[in-house]
Amino acid sequence: MPKGTIGVTTNNIFPVIKKFLYSDHEIFLRELVSNAVDATQKLKTLQGAGDFKGSTEGLKVNISVDKEAGTLTVSDSGIGMTAEEIDKYINQIAFSGAEEFLEKYKDTANAIIGHFGLGFYSAFMVAKKVEIRTLSWQEGAKAVSWTCDGSPEFEMSDCDKAERGTDIILTIDDDEKEFLETARIEGLLKKYCRFLPVPIIFGKEQEWKDGKYVDTDKDKVINDVEPLWSRMPADLKDEDYLKFYHAIEPMQDDPLFWIHLNVDYPFTLTGILYFPKIKNNLDIRKDRIQLYCNQVYVTDSVEGVVPDWLMLLQGVIDSPDIPLNVSRSYLQSDRAVKKISTYITKKVAARLEEIAKNQPDEFEKKWNDIKIFIEYGMLSDEKFCESGLKFALLENCDGKYFKIEDYRKLIEAEQTDKEGNLICLYATDKEAQYAYIKAATDKGYDVLLMNGELDVHFASMLEQKQEKMRFVRVDSDVLDNIIRKQDDNKPQFNPEQQEIAQTLFHSQIPPVEKAEFMVSFAAMSPDDKPVVITQAEYMRRMKEMARFQPGMSFYGEMPDMYSLVLNTKHPLIQKIVDLAENALDAELKPVNEDITATQNVVNALRDLKKDNKELPEDKKKDLEDNEKHLDELRNKKKGIITAYAAGESRVHQLIDIALLSNNMLKGEGLDRFLKRSIGLLK
Ligand code: ADP
Repeated sequence: MPKGTIGVTTNNIFPVIKKFLYSDHEIFLRELVSNAVDATQKLKTLQGAGDFKGSTEGLKVNISVDKEAGTLTVSDSGIGMTAEEIDKYINQIAFSGAEEFLEKYKDTANAIIGHFGLGFYSAFMVAKKVEIRTLSWQEGAKAVSWTCDGSPEFEMSDCDKAERGTDIILTIDDDEKEFLETARIEGLLKKYCRFLPVPIIFGKEQEWKDGKYVDTDKDKVINDVEPLWSRMPADLKDEDYLKFYHAIEPMQDDPLFWIHLNVDYPFTLTGILYFPKIKNNLDIRKDRIQLYCNQVYVTDSVEGVVPDWLMLLQGVIDSPDIPLNVSRSYLQSDRAVKKISTYITKKVAARLEEIAKNQPDEFEKKWNDIKIFIEYGMLSDEKFCESGLKFALLENCDGKYFKIEDYRKLIEAEQTDKEGNLICLYATDKEAQYAYIKAATDKGYDVLLMNGELDVHFASMLEQKQEKMRFVRVDSDVLDNIIRKQDDNKPQFNPEQQEIAQTLFHSQIPPVEKAEFMVSFAAMSPDDKPVVITQAEYMRRMKEMARFQPGMSFYGEMPDMYSLVLNTKHPLIQKIVDLAENALDAELKPVNEDITATQNVVNALRDLKKDNKELPEDKKKDLEDNEKHLDELRNKKKGIITAYAAGESRVHQLIDIALLSNNMLKGEGLDRFLKRSIGLLK
């Protein structure tokens, strides 16, 4: 009985294999089954080349466990090995048989599964003893048995094996007993071998008989030997894609779209990517694309291979050209992988463009579901952005969809301001901003609906890419200011009236949590609302962006700044201010005179300070005193107006209505408004 030492330089490689080779012991099964599949594929290759004259019908791989004997066996009906081959391929561990084989059958051997590393020897991660029983396809070959108990010594002898092929029999280690459990093995086979190109058999199909499940004669085939992605797109129907999707993603709604990837130059890649229907944000999960190498499952972590933003997709990618045993960082810098990633992006863009063009209704219907992908893609990928600009849609508040170019044309005439900027109005909430939307549409403007997670970022991006295009929320200012068509509409009030109006209203704004107000004026139309509340676009957008960007959180903490805009053309506002002016005239007159006089003194003293001259001590004191007095007078004036305003229920009512239409009137303020309103009915 010949004995030998395995041809490796290290004295004992097995502890190394066991501990460090793969962190996941389970992948031994993938390695062994892959070798078995290889062996059957090689037989086909030999047949194709005319070397093997027999039949390749019924080639298969069989896996079985014998719990009592403590063994797991992987059997194939492939090419088998002669004693010399065992010596060469198994004993000379550093020598890779596949390479030599590929060299010989270069052109036809594409289907042969690539390298995974130490392959066969990974069996020692879980086995204390491994036996190979094999009979080569070659005429007159003798069956050989090879055993090794995990030390670098092995035994080789003749054996009786009648059928061509190889059995690998593992005597499972005591602390790896899980690999003798049927359910565990079936789970692993389903994970790694589900789409292998040769039938993988594990036990028998069962049927329900006499109150229990019993084995039938029929082999249980674990895999689908011709998975959808390996077939020609032209041969496939929608149902096929949907069925496949549900097979790999159970519990999911139908996908929105799919893309069948199929390329063989300059690299080989097939696959199907699905756009899932995302019900809510919790659903967004990366790592839903499975990576295969010639139908052998490799990983579901495709980072680097697929551009980051496409990791939201689901499906499979199969490519023998993706290096498998390298670190992620290497993968990301690998040129071939970069090409693959670029190709996938291009394909996705082309497919979306095609759907948008050929099935515009379908595209519109699904836009709201896919826009998160497209916007995310356009925001993170320059190249995709270029294509995206052609098919991305904008939705308006009437539920109509427009391509960006078409939308420009639609609003060009009405919504270009005097500087030539095209102003796109948008709302983020149709209900809450109803009054503003209505005011805009009444004027003949169009209002977009931008209520998606990334819409505001998307708008900012469009502003950069599209010449002179600006996005402004309908409630960010009064319309005449948002789309300025001529020079300032001078407010109607003189400075004194403005001061009165400002204090009149500002003093009566009830406290609103996390909000601050200033009062401003706009000469709108008499038909417009008397008072509106606006929030500047810039500030709001900054705060919104801050939610996504860690470094900007201080924006998020700042109170919201609002403008309470008084419509100086509105008769009610004019009346309120007139009444106040008249009623307060007598009381304000002396204060105003005093203010004017004091202001004159202050001005004169400040004049002396011009050209950085130091004031003499007495004048300095004079200036300070007068400034202080001026402050007091102003406060006094404010006090007088505020006292009057407190009794002017129209002011309260107008403020509250404006707050109410912004959904900002709550709690005590709301209660007071309701009571006051009822009072007004009396
Ligand atoms: P690799 O598959 O990467 O070459 P392995 O260690 O898994 O490395 O296998 C070494 C060689 O042993 C294979 O290339 C093949 O020639 C041979 N071999 C392994 N398993 C089988 C098998 N089931 N049938 C025939 N040959 C096999």
